[in-house]
Amino acid sequence: MTNPALTHRVSPADPKVKTIPPLTDPDAVRIIALGGVEEVGKNMTIVETADDILIFDAGFQFVSSESDAPGVNYILPNTQYLEENKDKIRGLIVTHGHLDHIGGIPFLIERIGNPPIYTRYLTSLMILKRQEEFPHLPKVNMNVVEIGQKINVGNTPVKFFPVTHSIPDSMGISVETKHGNIVISGDLKLDHDDGEPSKVEKDTWGTLGKDKNLLLIGDSTNAERDGFSIPEVRVHTNIEKIIRDVRGRLIIGTFASQFERMIRIIEIAEKLGKKVVLEGRSIKTNLEIAEHAGMLKVSKGTIIPIQEIEDHPSDKILVLATGAQGEEFAALMRIATMRHKFITLNDRDTIMLSSSVIPGNELSVQKLKDNLYRRGVHIIHYRASDVHSTGHGNSGELVWIREQVNPTFLMPAYGYHSMIRCHAYANIEAGFPKENVILADNGMVIDIKNGKDLNILKDKVPCEQLMVDGFTVGAKQEVVIRDRQSLAEDGMFVIIATVNTKTGQLRKSPDIISRGFVYLRENQQLLSEARVLIKKTVEKSTTRSHPIDLDFVKDEITDVVSGFLMQKTHKTPMVIPVLIGI
Ligand SMILES: [Zn+2]
Repeated sequence: MTNPALTHRVSPADPKVKTIPPLTDPDAVRIIALGGVEEVGKNMTIVETADDILIFDAGFQFVSSESDAPGVNYILPNTQYLEENKDKIRGLIVTHGHLDHIGGIPFLIERIGNPPIYTRYLTSLMILKRQEEFPHLPKVNMNVVEIGQKINVGNTPVKFFPVTHSIPDSMGISVETKHGNIVISGDLKLDHDDGEPSKVEKDTWGTLGKDKNLLLIGDSTNAERDGFSIPEVRVHTNIEKIIRDVRGRLIIGTFASQFERMIRIIEIAEKLGKKVVLEGRSIKTNLEIAEHAGMLKVSKGTIIPIQEIEDHPSDKILVLATGAQGEEFAALMRIATMRHKFITLNDRDTIMLSSSVIPGNELSVQKLKDNLYRRGVHIIHYRASDVHSTGHGNSGELVWIREQVNPTFLMPAYGYHSMIRCHAYANIEAGFPKENVILADNGMVIDIKNGKDLNILKDKVPCEQLMVDGFTVGAKQEVVIRDRQSLAEDGMFVIIATVNTKTGQLRKSPDIISRGFVYLRENQQLLSEARVLIKKTVEKSTTRSHPIDLDFVKDEITDVVSGFLMQKTHKTPMVIPVLIGI
């Protein structure tokens, strides 16, 4: 079956939006963050020279249930500037396999002319796996690159370097331009021992620092935290201790994106002779990819199907489950609310939440925890013991990285504005010149000339977000979203009336249907007043018109009834008159 996701879409070209011409000056380089500098998610950055446009990452953002865009599945960066300059695009370079860096590819790649993709092996597998869900799309042109390799993308030389993140094969990129290199960090943290970066980190960043670096575009996600993040090694030691010591079943809630952690947990379980059950589609898919890539080596029989969970002593069972963010339908929530077919919790079970709470998910995580505590299970929490470390460096790490790279300009990226500011402040405090910090917004056009003159254009490129809403992908969704918000808040009030088009009289008392407004049965008085008012309004607005204009009558009814309901109930439901003329 073909998926109509891209056939049914709103044309993105907005004639009202002023077009910014592409860069032609051979002594200048242009940077635009199409997304990712006003949010965590939908990362997409452009580096443009007179010859080439290189795109870095094409992510999407999940829409949380508490968001102000009800019903929308994902938010994408706006690619109008790229669509207008398709013939200049030489490649899409992807730093790593997380959805906020690859999730937009199936929706965007066709719009930008299906450029070749350059990325490392695991990331390539993850992109190709996702493409399978969109069989109608043309095949992507995938190029697997190696660390240390230097290639030309168009006329632009780029080289790839390894970075530490929560998923293997994460990389950063150094882009050579006439007046210095542009270093793009991707998501990263440092591998370190109590603030002392490892030898690999020192080598990588030390080598990069030998180049003439014009600009560093760096991860800001954890810049609001001081010092260095908890080293992953310590997390592994703690998790190992827990897996060893726990009596009864151990259920670990984690993110499917935390490859390293999941792989480590399975290895530890195998070493301790425990059986592992995987619960949740994304965990299964990602571990399949990891196994395929040779990153997870596990003997047969360690991972068992959930149906066999009762065949083993409970001390030997470890469950890896999705849903640590309290997602309604994920495994952990189903387990917590006793809706799971194979796992019924008892007070011998231990649950470990090995992840932090993503901003916006606080309420659902609270609901999850309350439900778990009701079951009387023992809970181990990331805040209480070090069982979670982030994939993103704290400000201490970010400053160390910037010092190694020693760029002329610094552009904090990947994060909400507060994170970007904190990344900037930490570096300014450490002595970096304030005037050389670029605080970008989505769509801002940043030109750097002769390696020193910073020029931020007055106009932005179109940056209104694109939304994936069911099968529709488009920018002009605000009207729909506004209607959904108003329906959610005040409900709707439908009036069905039959009008005699000769006399302008109602045939009978109008029918009223409402949803989400007030409980009609208890508001008969309100209903009969509304009926009288509708009747009067119809008669009044038809007296002097021949022939009768039903659209005009409808507008009148909407106005009058809305005002009446507001006055009586302090609610503004969506009033929908349906008039049948006979
Ligand atoms: Zn990431």
